[in-house]
Amino acid sequence: MIQLYIPLNFLGVIYREIKQNLTDLDKMFTLIDREREVADASGAQALRTNGPVDVRFEHVDFAYEPARPILHGISFEIPAGKTVAVVGPSGSGKSTLARLLYRFYDPQQGRILIAGQDIRHVTQASVRRAIGIVPQDTVLFNDSVAYNIRYGRPEAGDAEVEQAARAAHIHDFIASTPKGYTTMVGERGLKLSGGEKQRVAIARTLLKDPPVLIFDEATSALDSANERAIQAELKSAARGKTTLVIAHRLSTVVDAHEILVMELGRIIERGTHLQLLAARGRYADMWALQQSAEKLAPAVA
Ligand code: ATP
Repeated sequence: MIQLYIPLNFLGVIYREIKQNLTDLDKMFTLIDREREVADASGAQALRTNGPVDVRFEHVDFAYEPARPILHGISFEIPAGKTVAVVGPSGSGKSTLARLLYRFYDPQQGRILIAGQDIRHVTQASVRRAIGIVPQDTVLFNDSVAYNIRYGRPEAGDAEVEQAARAAHIHDFIASTPKGYTTMVGERGLKLSGGEKQRVAIARTLLKDPPVLIFDEATSALDSANERAIQAELKSAARGKTTLVIAHRLSTVVDAHEILVMELGRIIERGTHLQLLAARGRYADMWALQQSAEKLAPAVA
């Protein structure tokens, strides 16, 4: 009996540990990562973000495994408060840029700067505090809707949680459920659609209010009315923030300060939407293809 008791007790400790730490994404990675990819430099200070916060990639080369280089000589700048969009075929390295900016990995060559500071030289925790991510597939915790939104800023009050939910257009949906913000979501609770989950992620990010945003647009098809609504919400969330958008639909990128077209880990074209159309290159081809595909698709009200 004692032998059974000890492991169960141990599991209980791990469960409590995980549950306590779920409010800290970084700690969660510490708990579940088999091996941490990056470590703080000794004496690393926190990132300073009190002035304008721009993002720069300077000559970045990166490989997950030495034998297979993924990114080659990537340089671009997102001026403070502007949006840069990345487009390109699946596997071209778009999400890898986001992972490097969030410092899941360090580049082998080159550097990444936020507000002029090399992110390798500051604490990871401070980098992650400065960045909000709306991922392709939002993971929700088996807890209340309020908990899932408040995760963006654990000390936020109920009124702030509701305000963020309203801004992300998920409040009316939450209010229509019998238990409102205390409704449990996740596997054993209320199942949310892809669009609703993304709205929870947007609310979370609005509450966190970081100077830098990363949007990894969902590849999974939402219906087009839902998709337009989500795009509008993302756009208002990005106002005034330094934003990297990984775009799967070109309609999202039209207003970007700069669009980077990636292929096989290289930037093969760059410019604004109009500049890229005028250049009649790869982007212009992709645009023409997507326009004709949309004309062929059945109209959704
Ligand atoms: P998609 O549009 O499909 O999301 P992407 O352009 O974002 O694709 P990435 O996810 O950046 O592409 O992947 C770039 C390349 O890196 C791919 O060839 C992929 O197989 C490889 N890759 C991604 N993650 C890892 C990993 N953890 N370990 C090894 N290789 C990886």
